[in-house]
Amino acid sequence: MSARSTAASPRSTAATVTAAAALRHELAQATAVLDRLIGDYDELLADPDAIQEDRDAAAQLLEDGRRHLAELQAAQARLAEGTYGRCVVCGRTIDPERLAALPDAGTCVGCS
Ligand SMILES: [Zn+2]
Repeated sequence: MSARSTAASPRSTAATVTAAAALRHELAQATAVLDRLIGDYDELLADPDAIQEDRDAAAQLLEDGRRHLAELQAAQARLAEGTYGRCVVCGRTIDPERLAALPDAGTCVGCS
């Protein structure tokens, strides 16, 4: 056996554990917000008096919410495979402060 399998194992530093908790919290919040937005949008679409501008604005909010949720889910997948906290572009460790502020960050500051 080489040291390779050890190097590929998930990192479990305190910073990563903290960021993972923040990620789970943000994911739960984003899911709740998205559920509410979907409900609001369905109501808006059913309203015959709703104007197109409002529908477009609501559709944009919904799209932003879906994109954010997808980014959080991608971060969760990186966490599960043990690559969370490592830049997806250059492979360097992402600054723990950046992860604390943006738990779904997939890139380091230099690659963002
Ligand atoms: Zn990078």
